[in-house]
Amino acid sequence: MSKQIPISFEFFPTKTDAGAEKLKTVHQELQLLNPEFFSVTYGAGGSTRERTLSTINDFNGKGTPVAPHLSCIGDDKARIAELLDLYKSQGIDRIVALRGDLPSGQVGLGELPYAQDLVRFIREHSGDHFHIEVAAYPEMHPQAESFDKDIQHFVEKVNAGANAALTQFFFNPDAYFYFVERIQQAGVNIPVAPGIMPITNASNLIRFADSTGAEIPRWIRKQLATYGDDTASIKAFGHEVVLKFCERLIAGGAPSLHFYTMNNTEPTRQLVTDLGLA
Ligand code: FAD
Repeated sequence: MSKQIPISFEFFPTKTDAGAEKLKTVHQELQLLNPEFFSVTYGAGGSTRERTLSTINDFNGKGTPVAPHLSCIGDDKARIAELLDLYKSQGIDRIVALRGDLPSGQVGLGELPYAQDLVRFIREHSGDHFHIEVAAYPEMHPQAESFDKDIQHFVEKVNAGANAALTQFFFNPDAYFYFVERIQQAGVNIPVAPGIMPITNASNLIRFADSTGAEIPRWIRKQLATYGDDTASIKAFGHEVVLKFCERLIAGGAPSLHFYTMNNTEPTRQLVTDLGLA
């Protein structure tokens, strides 16, 4: 059994009423694993504003705290302030603060071009009310000028007032350990929770990895390719690989794990249970 560390779960807002009902069941099932919080993503430029709010409303006050994601690119301060005030009035005290990505072709970065500007704005507007989580990239943000610059901007973001970080998903533990070492050398000591993506579907995984700049090690890609459409084998292999990956992260000192649930119970529940973290 692994060392006991906290876990958290990420959802995305669903598009349909049926999807929202299904997510309520997933929420109930995952809540039994005793997570520290659930987070709900937000479409950059406010594209999922109503659906994020409605998902937050479904889960807020139902036991486990809920943390809305909030992005700043293409949004203005007034709209962001409105959301912060609303969340505060609803008793929410944890936010995941992000820059977001605009759809290609859309221009105009807005009043807050980077996540560090959003973190600063949240502190100016809401003081210390919110526990602010920010994004971290052990394998470097895909648009970063260089790894060193990315570390520098991450440190600025933390110094602007972030309390903790959640990483992009990745499968190379050494990338995480090196990232943590580098930020600690730069004087940053906030907890950085590795973002864990269960492997259940090869083509979706490759698509997410390509769009986020995450690297799937060659041996994992090659092995997944041998299974073709055999989803049972993909899931069994994926579970084994991600379980061992989590064990290494925990043994190496990861303070908590943040699971990208993809709005499904089973792959995350199996991992958490086999890690002895439920
Ligand atoms: P930033 O920290 O602003 O960094 C973005 C880039 O700008 C980096 O390359 C950085 O090095 C560079 N940079 C930062 N500051 C400066 C500066 N002052 N000058 C020059 N360059 C700078 N997206 C969504 O739209 N909605 C979500 O809900 C969402 N949830 C996420 C959750 C997690 C855990 C993670 C890891 C990502 C999530 N994303 C989400 C994706 C995220 O919005 C994108 O990865 C986005 O491209 C960067 O966001 P950021 O907050 O890391 O940006």
